[in-house]
Amino acid sequence: MFINFVCVYLFMAPETVDTIISGGTVVTPDGTVDATIAIDGEKITAVGDESSLPDGQEHIDASGKLIMPGMIDPHVHAHDDPFTIDSYETATKAAALGGITTLINFAWEGWDDEVSIYDPDATMLDGIERQRAGNSEAVIDYGVHATIATEDQANLELLEDVVEAGASSIKMFTAYGHGISNGFVNKVLRRLADLGAVGVFHTEEPTVCDQLTEQFQAEKKGTPEWYPKSRPDYAEAMAADNAARMAQEAGAKYYGVHTSCRKAADVLEQYQDDGTLIRAETCTHYTVHDDTIYEELGNLPLIAPPIRSPDDIEAMFDHLRSGVLSVVSTDHCAYKKESKNVENWWDCAAFGANALQRSLPVFHDEAVNNRGISYSTLVRYMSANPAKTFGMPEKGTLDPGTDADIVVFDPEASETISAEDNASNADFTIYEGREVTGQVEKTFVRGTLVADQGEIVASPGHGEFLEREIPDWQT
Ligand SMILES: [Zn+2]
Repeated sequence: MFINFVCVYLFMAPETVDTIISGGTVVTPDGTVDATIAIDGEKITAVGDESSLPDGQEHIDASGKLIMPGMIDPHVHAHDDPFTIDSYETATKAAALGGITTLINFAWEGWDDEVSIYDPDATMLDGIERQRAGNSEAVIDYGVHATIATEDQANLELLEDVVEAGASSIKMFTAYGHGISNGFVNKVLRRLADLGAVGVFHTEEPTVCDQLTEQFQAEKKGTPEWYPKSRPDYAEAMAADNAARMAQEAGAKYYGVHTSCRKAADVLEQYQDDGTLIRAETCTHYTVHDDTIYEELGNLPLIAPPIRSPDDIEAMFDHLRSGVLSVVSTDHCAYKKESKNVENWWDCAAFGANALQRSLPVFHDEAVNNRGISYSTLVRYMSANPAKTFGMPEKGTLDPGTDADIVVFDPEASETISAEDNASNADFTIYEGREVTGQVEKTFVRGTLVADQGEIVASPGHGEFLEREIPDWQT
């Protein structure tokens, strides 16, 4: 698709600007156009024909390259989180190398079990403060989903302040020790409907998963290929059905994280009939891997929900195309190989895999190169849609006046992925040995070059904590 910019957009046109990126193909959510971008300070000031733009102190030749808005990953575990060994420094460096300019992490309420790393009395507001304090380490911008881990009634009173503090989305789990019951979910959703904030859901029906886990333990089925059968697609679909149904009844915004299977996506589709309040993501790994990975890589891909069947990969693309799924995220959780080195899969305490650095190259290679999805569509899934879904009007766009978060991407450059290049603290990748065509060349965050040709060139502290707005899902 090719669109014309009918006019040159000039935003407070100065005589010279800091940076001009010319010669490339600009990708917006609506199309592509050969155009030049002017950056001054932290903002994009103009997009158009180079001859009509101001001169730049710095010139970047993007001939043959794509110029895209920075990717936005709304599902990342980093810094002060029980499900990662990444700091903001290591996670955001991995992100910048992967063309991601904004991520959303989690601000946890404390709870009391062996998984929690927090004071059980710590509130979501305490969690937000702990996350804010991480910005001295970050090289890209980040926000947080506040995370409810207990059925403390005080959480309901706290939600307004949490949203006010910039966490306009609230994460809830239906499974694990930090999961909450349908009854409490129902209360939270009604409060969120009043506030306009988003309910973010990890959905797996826990008693079904527990029952199957106990059965496989009794049958001594501890090899990793049994793991996905212990958390089946129907258990994910059952819990998604409950949570989405309650959201619809409450009139609350619902966002399902890490949708992994056809059954769960089909459920969400049913609730999208009467409006726009039910949205969901899948993750890069569910679009490229099937469950044969457990034979190939053993325990390394132990993640929840599990990696599923080849048909579920097709289902992710079917539902992305139809709009049932609108975002592709990573669910980045960094671990060392040794923490996956257990005799039986149920002994593993480290469910998750790192992906920030590889998500864009891997998804691009699969979606654009292999399946013919357009660049604009990729930009919608990985940048524009997450920005709109989570209240970040300065992000996910190349419109003049917005933040100069920009990726220069070489669609022809190839690489073979190796964990040796990991910026994350994780020492493996579930994409090891995968050959992909399309590489991130430069990543700008608010006008500053952060990653260049595979190297980090900005200092920790460039990243800022983002106070997100209440999103408008009508537009
Ligand atoms: Zn997660």
